Amino acid sequence: MVLFKKTTDLVKHLHRANDAKNSIGFVPTMGALHQGHLSLIQKSKEETGTTVCSVFINPTQFNNPEDLKKYPVTLEQDIYLLEKSGCDILFLPDIKEIYPDGTDFTKHYELGNLENILEGKYRPGHFQGVCQVMNSLLKIVSPDHLFLGQKDYQQCLVIKKLGTLIKERVVINICPTMRESNGLAMSSRNLRLNDKEKMQASEIFKCLCFMRDNVSKGDVTDLKQAATDTLKQNGFVVDYAEIANAENLSTVITWDGEEKLVLLIAAYLNDVRLIDNLLPASQNFKS
Ligand code: AMP
Repeated sequence: MVLFKKTTDLVKHLHRANDAKNSIGFVPTMGALHQGHLSLIQKSKEETGTTVCSVFINPTQFNNPEDLKKYPVTLEQDIYLLEKSGCDILFLPDIKEIYPDGTDFTKHYELGNLENILEGKYRPGHFQGVCQVMNSLLKIVSPDHLFLGQKDYQQCLVIKKLGTLIKERVVINICPTMRESNGLAMSSRNLRLNDKEKMQASEIFKCLCFMRDNVSKGDVTDLKQAATDTLKQNGFVVDYAEIANAENLSTVITWDGEEKLVLLIAAYLNDVRLIDNLLPASQNFKS
């Protein structure tokens, strides 16, 4: 694996890879890598000739400065895991490489309602930050394929929208969520949970399964409330337990039995905010 810290060096190297008619797969991350991230690397290796992974903790997407301060950093372990996974290139930029003109942006990405609902509502400015970093990274890496995790469902929709806004001709591949054996979605933030909390946190997946198994035609308000109540009884502070349209995330109140659904939860366990989602079995994420 080759490691680049400078954009200019990476770009030169990628030009050579492109000349060799190698398609480029890109896996952007914020580090503290786990099996979920590595599954994206694996997928990229299967689909493309050169796999680039970036590790960059993007300050502009953190609406809560405490969350940024506490974000786990495990760089040595990340490099070891990437090397072992067969990743070809690690891009490890500092902030000036990603934001050469600073982070006082005037550009606003028109994300429509996606920006105001669910994660957008509870994390104001978050998706503008995601677009800023992805715009910069996509311009630098210029990948043929981008690999993202369904774990961050709304982020996947936002990045798809960004792709159309900035006219990037990149194929977006959405990969399934990797879970611990108790169902807990793998996440870098899980490093901030102790063993007892990790067990407790698996309640999120159980509540998603409960909504999936009990959703039926008609009013779904009581089902969402039941999931919210269960989470609260298990010690969570709940931002949302939502049933939404899988394509645009608009809230579903009365289900007609046909509309494609996604079930989403965001909740705090102590001061750690966790998110997860589930698509009913017959529905696959359309990339
Ligand atoms: P992050 O480092 O949290 O910004 O995540 C980098 C990429 O890994 C994003 O596309 C995430 O959706 C994806 N990812 C995070 N957790 C998982 C998981 N448990 N399974 C699959 N992909 C994941």
